[in-house]
Amino acid sequence: MSKIEFSAMPDEQGYFGEYGGQIIPPELKAIMDEINNAYEQIRVTKAFQDELMDLHQHYVGRPSPIFKTTKLTDSGAQIFLKREDLNHTGAHKINHCLGEALLAKHMGKTKVLAETGAGQHGVALATACALVGIECEIHMGEIDIEKEHPNVTKMKILGCKLVPVSRGTRTLKDAVDSAFEEYLKDPSNFFYAIGSVVGPHPFPKMVRDFQSIVGREAREQFLQSEGKLPDLVTACVGGGSNAIGIFTAFLEDEEVDLVGVEPAGKGLETPDHAATLTKGVKGTIHGMQCYNLQDEQGEPLPVYSIASGLDYPGVGPQHCYLKDLGRVRYVNADDQECLNAFMTLSQKEGIIPALESAHALAYAMKVAKEMSADQSILVNLSGRGDKDADFVAEKLGL
Ligand SMILES: *Cc1c(COP(=O)(O)O)cnc(C)c1O
Repeated sequence: MSKIEFSAMPDEQGYFGEYGGQIIPPELKAIMDEINNAYEQIRVTKAFQDELMDLHQHYVGRPSPIFKTTKLTDSGAQIFLKREDLNHTGAHKINHCLGEALLAKHMGKTKVLAETGAGQHGVALATACALVGIECEIHMGEIDIEKEHPNVTKMKILGCKLVPVSRGTRTLKDAVDSAFEEYLKDPSNFFYAIGSVVGPHPFPKMVRDFQSIVGREAREQFLQSEGKLPDLVTACVGGGSNAIGIFTAFLEDEEVDLVGVEPAGKGLETPDHAATLTKGVKGTIHGMQCYNLQDEQGEPLPVYSIASGLDYPGVGPQHCYLKDLGRVRYVNADDQECLNAFMTLSQKEGIIPALESAHALAYAMKVAKEMSADQSILVNLSGRGDKDADFVAEKLGL
């Protein structure tokens, strides 16, 4: 097999192949370049690395273990879980929120800003800012505030300023606009913390770097316990941070099959899905070039998934690049498959997964049956399902 040529680093303009970049006004480009320069300087210092390492270990609870399941399928490949659900705050998001909060603090920024939809990014960021000691302001649509009570309460307790957004659809899209307007009031003193491997350069690279601890640990843990690499590594893809986080360590291992799982929602033939890499076209969103779910006018389409963390109409530029190169395959799982996986893991192994993570698990359970018993699948269990328990119970009439 010929060696696959890819670069894990974007070019000077922040492009992975033809994806990424900085599709933003020149004033903002100057600010993003400043963030990139600061990041490149700070990330290699021993002080920053020690600080982050110490927090990973004593605050987040890393390394998260790898767990070998035994009861998810009757036959076929063995399924292993990388337990990001055991992290402080219950998901992988704390990995990049800590990195971003620390960077903002090192750069002397006075306030960290973000929007949140279901509140997962908001809670992880408010947590990191409380710890690091920097002001945090989260914008959230009024409809989402009503729907996501526990997360709203947590953000308030954590001391962040929660700004309700009453314009437009009063959901995530308007929260993005509102938070961004606030950011533009003083971008040299504020830091806009993006919640996935999306947005203008350097965010896709930076968030990827902060998440790549997941794959580095997993690869080493797997080699140590099994004496070989997994045959397949899989993760769910919303913006793509947990997936790129686990994939990065395996990109050069050509024998390891890498598979990203997108939400097929109510079906790919309906408008109710968020399978951006499967059904999207090349376009621009949130300052980057990537595959998009958009209408004829180039406006983002409304997207849907049973897992609110996956309903994003764009996707990280590095995933677009890896798809075109054929190094990562992108498949999908629908709501029903997700719910089945959610219940199966809960009842067979006593682990309640996040609905997001259950998409990757659903794919693993399906494909395991077509593989042999000496093969293995590693699933990134990106988060825990406490947040989804009431919703699922109601949905299934439990
Ligand atoms: C937010 C979230 C996701 C989706 O985000 P990515 O950037 O695609 O990883 C996946 N799983 C969980 C548990 C989340 O909270």
